[in-house]
Amino acid sequence: MSIAENIAAIRAQMDAAALAAGRDPKSVLLCAATKMNDAEAVREAIRCGVDCCGENRVQELVAKLADDAYRGRPVHFIGHLQTNKVKQVVGKVDLIQSVDSLRLLQAIQKEAARQNICQNILLEVNIGQEENKTGFTAGEVWEVLEEIAHFPNIAVNGLMAIPPICRIPGGNDKFFQEMYNLAVDITAKKGDNVSMEILSMGMSGDFADAIRCGSTMIRVGTAIFGARQY
Ligand SMILES: *Cc1c(COP(=O)(O)O)cnc(C)c1O
Repeated sequence: MSIAENIAAIRAQMDAAALAAGRDPKSVLLCAATKMNDAEAVREAIRCGVDCCGENRVQELVAKLADDAYRGRPVHFIGHLQTNKVKQVVGKVDLIQSVDSLRLLQAIQKEAARQNICQNILLEVNIGQEENKTGFTAGEVWEVLEEIAHFPNIAVNGLMAIPPICRIPGGNDKFFQEMYNLAVDITAKKGDNVSMEILSMGMSGDFADAIRCGSTMIRVGTAIFGARQY
């Protein structure tokens, strides 16, 4: 299947999942997870109507930016970001989805202040509480939001999660629902530079479940581009 056919099929499944949950299909955005795919594949995905692109590795982001690969669509950073690489990402991407520590938040604040910009971010939640994954616990998210006044050059746009790998349909619903409830609770109490507009969850294997549970942005790689060649 071509990228065009894959995206058309994904859009159909997205719309069906949204409608089945009584949601407006337009309320869910498709982010192409472009890691290991070249600039030409990225351009093709954009031509076929993905809403934004998500890059995992700083090196790939820098190379594809130099190639103008994302022209016409926002680009997000979605991988683990080391504090010593924030200079290459802050101000270069529309959204950093994967803010997973207070240390990283501080480094982003410092760089955004230096550039005199406001950097949009999502807080990444380790919703499955997996040891091998980074991200805040739900409790830590509340603590960070208490501190958010100390980060005037950062705007929190919502939450992101990568639940455990699961091959059973509906297997991650519990985690998706926890994320949705957390976002709702935060919305009720949020401060000035905090919105919960984006709830980024759902990947190739489980995006329909995530949409049913309230996701507003799915990040899809394999189902668009095929299996990655490592
Ligand atoms: C690779 C990746 C995805 C997409 O995964 P697929 O299973 O290929 O759809 C989504 N989110 C993040 C953070 C990723 O690294």
